[in-house]
Amino acid sequence: MSTDIRPQSEPAQTESAQAESAQTEPGQAEPSQTSRVEVSEREARELAEAARDIEYTRPSFAKELYLGKFDLSLIHPHPRGEGDTVSEGEAFISKLEGFCRSLDGPKIERESMIPDEYIKGLGDLGAFGMKIPKKYGGLGLSMVYYGRAMMLIGSVHPSMATLISAHNSIGVPEPVKQFGTEDQKQEYLTRCAGGAVTAFLLTEPDVGSDPARMGSTARLSDDGTEYILDGVKLWTTNGVIAELVVVMATVPKHEGGRGGISAFVVETSSEGVTVENRNVFMGLKGIENGVTRFSGVRIPVENRLGKEGEGLKIALTTLNTGRLSIPAICAAAAKWSLKIAREWSAERVQWGRQVGKHEAVGSKIAFMAATTFALEAVFELSAELSDAGSKDIRIEAALAKLWASEMSYTIVDELIQIRGGRGYETADSMAARGERAVPAEQMLRDMRINRIFEGSTEIMHLLIAREAVDTHLKAAGALADNDATAGAKAKAAVKASGFYASWLPKLVLGKGMIPGAYNEFGPLAKHMRFIERRSRKLARQTFYGMGRWQAKMEYKQAFLGRVVDIGAELFAMAASCTRAEMIRKEDPERGEAAYELAAAFCIQSRLRIEEAFDRLWDNSDNVDRVLTDRVLEGGYTWLEDGVIDASEGTGPWIATWEPGESKVDNVHRSYR
Ligand SMILES: Cc1cc2nc3c(=O)[nH]c(=O)nc-3n(C[C@H](O)[C@H](O)[C@H](O)COP(=O)(O)OP(=O)(O)OC[C@H]3O[C@@H](n4cnc5c(N)ncnc54)[C@H](O)[C@@H]3O)c2cc1C
Repeated sequence: MSTDIRPQSEPAQTESAQAESAQTEPGQAEPSQTSRVEVSEREARELAEAARDIEYTRPSFAKELYLGKFDLSLIHPHPRGEGDTVSEGEAFISKLEGFCRSLDGPKIERESMIPDEYIKGLGDLGAFGMKIPKKYGGLGLSMVYYGRAMMLIGSVHPSMATLISAHNSIGVPEPVKQFGTEDQKQEYLTRCAGGAVTAFLLTEPDVGSDPARMGSTARLSDDGTEYILDGVKLWTTNGVIAELVVVMATVPKHEGGRGGISAFVVETSSEGVTVENRNVFMGLKGIENGVTRFSGVRIPVENRLGKEGEGLKIALTTLNTGRLSIPAICAAAAKWSLKIAREWSAERVQWGRQVGKHEAVGSKIAFMAATTFALEAVFELSAELSDAGSKDIRIEAALAKLWASEMSYTIVDELIQIRGGRGYETADSMAARGERAVPAEQMLRDMRINRIFEGSTEIMHLLIAREAVDTHLKAAGALADNDATAGAKAKAAVKASGFYASWLPKLVLGKGMIPGAYNEFGPLAKHMRFIERRSRKLARQTFYGMGRWQAKMEYKQAFLGRVVDIGAELFAMAASCTRAEMIRKEDPERGEAAYELAAAFCIQSRLRIEEAFDRLWDNSDNVDRVLTDRVLEGGYTWLEDGVIDASEGTGPWIATWEPGESKVDNVHRSYR
């Protein structure tokens, strides 16, 4: 992990690519020019580093947790919204529930499309302005109620939640709210609140997890009044019906401007915008996801969000809280799975018992119930912290996204197993045979994407690990820099030993070692003590890793992934315990059940945590690395003999695109 933090002064393009884009007139590209931008590993990392928000001006529970400090006061008593926030949120949820109950989710699956009247209905309810302040015509909902709305909408069909999330969380409203000028807010937030669907366009055929390879360009016109946008964006959720989109594109360095990846609000009705394809996926059949081409699109400079070069920072900051809609959707999937598993397992009898009474199935139900409680706890705690505004929740939101997407997918997979053959059968097929139409296989298909988009699991591991080891990197200085000289490293070692001499002793003793500590949590107190002890252990182990690998630590992704996962489980345990205690205070009867669920979750989670600790040092990482190299070099291709790969010859792995006018019909449509 490099400490070389370079200001994002230049787009991470090679010189040749820059020269090419500077010479080309919009829409009149040289035929030989393609989008491919070659970027070294170092350049990619430096760009990501430059987009990081390096300041923590507010306390962060999760950051402290990774440093061995379990500061319970940051999350307990569990924050709680109050007053109008709650009454208005409840009123909206009740209206929304009535509307959602009137919709036909299976129709969306059958027709692979959300009917326009459903989208209009959501618009009439104000769903496109849920997070927009009232002064711009929005509902001004809190994050908690926004998430609860996502749960309801997603339970009609997950495509509907994706539509709303892609618009509200990452589309035009959030970046404009956070980074827009007053004029931009007046213009765009008002339109969004009124039902204009929007989208967020970062990905390109050659840009997935690595924005440094961005090929889209926005060149400032000679008179300085417009940017001229050329590029192709892939997998644009809502892109097919969006009226406005936020586009990330590289501004070449120019006189008076530093250039770099920048964010623009673009009208899709502009000359030169073409939606070239409506993409189809294994799940989320109803989403309006497209390939959008920009050919010489003229964007007024007033449409740029923030400064030139701030695009990635805007995208990342938007995601800091925007990521919370996925945990809400995941919690909803878990709740639904639990309901189906409970009802089915009581009804289905095999070998003389309800299937739920067979231990092999029962243990899955116990996992589902305890984890559902924790998923809701993680979402609600993160959302309440976000609403309260006094804490930095970027790590919590990232942990919530990472952990919720993985756990909810396991839950749905277990549901399929519990349902047996019916788990694999489609809802329509079961209905045709006269049985209850339970779309478990659809849920598995729909939930799978959560582990990939808005930061894949692997990228979330890196992102959280970067924050988790930030203090070590600062302390280690040149020791953690692959390119530092021996002299600089020696100096850094002296400085680092000063830091560690005062920090390490703090990790030896802690409240978790005191019997009776956290006793306000009754039977959960022992789990709180465990969190405190394991938080210190996690910090110690991270330090050992840093000491052992120093600048090479950034390549130890398996080690770092386990460190992050342990932190995620500790966070989920803490969230579950504080939620159980909050419920007990508000409703003692339900509190007892909440305590049982939290306790069961903690016991299950502790096993995962201990296993991950063991695997920090006892693993197959080294042998796997050698094996991977051999596989990639083609050393074992004989292992693939005996099968047919029908995809061979069907096309390149990654389509290249050339700037210029579209050669296909525009599939963009308007829903209103
Ligand atoms: C249904 C759907 C909707 C989408 N909606 C949008 C949208 O609205 N807007 C938008 O801009 N994009 C959208 N995307 C794109 C999505 O965000 C990307 O798919 C995602 O960022 C991953 O990029 P990629 O698919 O190119 O994978 P790649 O980046 O090619 O990654 C391939 C694999 O390598 C791993 N990997 C990559 N880099 C690293 C690394 N440094 N270390 C370890 N592992 C690594 C990845 O985790 C993954 O497993 C959508 C995608 C889909 C499928």
